[in-house]
Amino acid sequence: MFDKLSDRLGGVFDKLRGRGALKEEDVRAAMREVRIALLEADVALPVVREFVEKVTEKAVGQAVLKSVTPGQQVVKIVNDGLTEMLGSEVSELDLAVAPPAIIMMVGLQGSGKTTTTAKIAKRLKDKDNKKVLMASLDVNRPAAQEQLAVLGEQIDAATLPIVEGQQPVEIAKRALQASKLQGFDVLMLDTAGRLHVDQQLMDEMKAVADVATPQEILLVVDSLTGQDAVNVAKNFSEQVDLSGVVLTRMDGDARGGAALSMRSVTGKPIKFVGVGEKIDALEEFHPERVAGRILG
Ligand code: GDP
Repeated sequence: MFDKLSDRLGGVFDKLRGRGALKEEDVRAAMREVRIALLEADVALPVVREFVEKVTEKAVGQAVLKSVTPGQQVVKIVNDGLTEMLGSEVSELDLAVAPPAIIMMVGLQGSGKTTTTAKIAKRLKDKDNKKVLMASLDVNRPAAQEQLAVLGEQIDAATLPIVEGQQPVEIAKRALQASKLQGFDVLMLDTAGRLHVDQQLMDEMKAVADVATPQEILLVVDSLTGQDAVNVAKNFSEQVDLSGVVLTRMDGDARGGAALSMRSVTGKPIKFVGVGEKIDALEEFHPERVAGRILG
């Protein structure tokens, strides 16, 4: 994760730290390199511009340049800027409602939506001791409902029995009823994946959201798709009230542009990151820790 960016920034700041006194030109030259490093990491251009402008303004201040450790001060300013870019605070699931709390999962096909549904269910079960029901509303992709059932068995969580021929809104209603009758704390609705942002499936998703009134609508996006992931998130957030984003395949993402641009471009927090194919390969997203990791 962020390996290349981390290497590049490491090089820039080693040079700065190595010098006792700093002049404004030194900081500006370093910031030009930071700008290039962020663009190479596939961070969205407006996000890079705003970041570099803000950070440069703070870093060329007299207090910084005249301090005993100007290099370190500049690194601290960059660290704070990155933390802010990543969303500042940890954003947890908000399930504080009378049960069942409903989590609706949306995203493009192949983004890792079904796997992530099971990952979150397992986490809620194991960490928070919640009784979780999962239901697949994906009637388009053959075997999507079976895939969720298999994952349910694997993590020992209930899945809604499959009824052939039922449409998504009907399945959502049935799932809601089953959760109430059987006393589930959380209901997870795995909606149909789509190949691209397509209006018919968007309308279906909105109809399900209207019926289920979920506490959380989580968009699952593949971090390897970089700025596309951010555009997808922007599109979805214009259609439904997303509560957050889950970035999958962070384990293979050496650049990290999606993670770095997501918050600024969409205004939505990253709630979790997928870091592998295994069901427990899911982590909470800690902006401060991630910024620290980037800066080594
Ligand atoms: P869906 O079509 O969006 O429901 O996607 P799936 O959940 O079926 O996932 C597609 C593939 O991505 C599967 O092979 C998953 O194991 C894999 N996958 C999902 N999340 C991650 C992740 O965080 N890291 C890695 N390496 N693979 C993942």
